[in-house]
Amino acid sequence: MDIIKQLTSILDKNSLLYKKEEIIPYSRDASFFKGSLPLAVTIPNNVEELSRIMKLCYENEIPVYIRGGGTSLTGASVPFENSIVISMAKFDKILELDTISRYVVAEAGVRLENLNSYLDMFGYFYPPDPASSIASTVGGTISTNAGGLRAAMYGTTKEWVLGMEVVFPNGEITRFGGKVLKRSLGYDLTALMIGSEGTLAVITKAILKIAPKPRKIGRILAYYDEIEKVGEAVAKVKEEGITPMIAEFMDKIALESIKKTKGISYPENSNVMLILDIASEESSLDPLLERAYKIINSLNPIQSKVTTDPIEMERIYLARKGILSSLLVERESMNQYMIIGDIVVPPSKLAITLKEIQECNKNFYFKISLLGHIGDGNIHITIFTDPNDVELMKKTEEFLLETGKIALKHEGSVSAEHGIGLEKKKLLIEEFKAKNSLVNLEIMKQIKKVFDPKNILNRGKLLE
Ligand SMILES: Cc1cc2nc3c(=O)[nH]c(=O)nc-3n(C[C@H](O)[C@H](O)[C@H](O)COP(=O)(O)OP(=O)(O)OC[C@H]3O[C@@H](n4cnc5c(N)ncnc54)[C@H](O)[C@@H]3O)c2cc1C
Repeated sequence: MDIIKQLTSILDKNSLLYKKEEIIPYSRDASFFKGSLPLAVTIPNNVEELSRIMKLCYENEIPVYIRGGGTSLTGASVPFENSIVISMAKFDKILELDTISRYVVAEAGVRLENLNSYLDMFGYFYPPDPASSIASTVGGTISTNAGGLRAAMYGTTKEWVLGMEVVFPNGEITRFGGKVLKRSLGYDLTALMIGSEGTLAVITKAILKIAPKPRKIGRILAYYDEIEKVGEAVAKVKEEGITPMIAEFMDKIALESIKKTKGISYPENSNVMLILDIASEESSLDPLLERAYKIINSLNPIQSKVTTDPIEMERIYLARKGILSSLLVERESMNQYMIIGDIVVPPSKLAITLKEIQECNKNFYFKISLLGHIGDGNIHITIFTDPNDVELMKKTEEFLLETGKIALKHEGSVSAEHGIGLEKKKLLIEEFKAKNSLVNLEIMKQIKKVFDPKNILNRGKLLE
């Protein structure tokens, strides 16, 4: 069977790519994994075309890889050979906004930054805010249960999805959830899709909750000598009943990379920076900021300050969001890649976890940079390594495993927000083992079989 010929009968010529030079970019995502060239990349215009592509692939048992923004850091969106990629690029419309019921309906390929620029005009926003929001999509972020900078206050994507339209592997179209906040209808199939990493069905549009924009935001910046102090500071702020909207930290290597790429300097004798945003109604912001600032200063920062200047705040915010590109200047050779660990612990365990990660690296000697969404306990361990060096990669995996074990020891998790993809399959099993719940893996495999009996969706990822 000539699959390209069959696809030509479904798609116009601008929606089907199969020449090598056109499809090469689709063989990679933002991770270090090298995928293979698929047979073709399809860019359907609507759900009917998408459904026909799925049906064709299902009948012929051709693996299908769904692609949103391709920003996965775990290899979740790289295809393998003899497969079809479905790009969601043309599902880019915002369909409906209801500010009374507080939801927006958006197609799966809408990029989060575009969604928020639109909502901003009405005084609303969609809280999930991965640092990749300029490129990551509604469908991709639902599929990985993305978190990001504002999760400290608003939680991750799972808190914000009311419903969705999906296409099953056999081409059937259905809808989960709806436009209301409350439903009691048995198994929650909307929830099942969140974090499913393109293995169960294709999300074509979603009903998302939105929130009014906070009236006023203030920011505290503090630099400390010891990295554990940011963990202590966040724990103390929370203990005092203050929930920061954003709480981020970056170590010295990250600060140095920002200095080199963005010209933002930092006190030379500091080893870590804490960014803490407090959001509130206009009248209550100042006392809240004052209380938080007092706590931050009780840990003897090298320098600290409060700002409500929007230009200054935006500058730091964008520097933090762009940190992974800044860190590229810290590579010691062109072969080096950055592999990003994504552990999470209860915030009360942050300080000890940060200390133990550093201790652990004394056995490995990796150049690492520690940063992350510390407000919800999420630590990203950026490891500078070489994916083409087999021995070094074994060591890298070992280090990731050891840091995963540190998170598990403190009742955290091996994957906070980046998902499993290809990278964390062993870590997933490790977590189930540690929690004495290996049976969960079996349940997940059975669910996969119900949705996708021929195993065509995102074959080789997550569970295999
Ligand atoms: C610079 C950078 C910073 C990042 N920062 C963060 C961060 O702060 N927080 C965070 O959580 N993540 C972060 N990430 C990781 C990444 O952006 C997220 O995993 C994001 O959710 C992926 O969205 P995407 O649209 O790019 O999806 P893709 O990478 O295209 O796909 C991810 C997975 O979702 C599936 N998928 C995509 N669209 C659909 C669909 N419509 N239906 C079904 N399955 C689908 C794919 O098959 C794949 O399994 C970052 C990545 C980069 C490169």
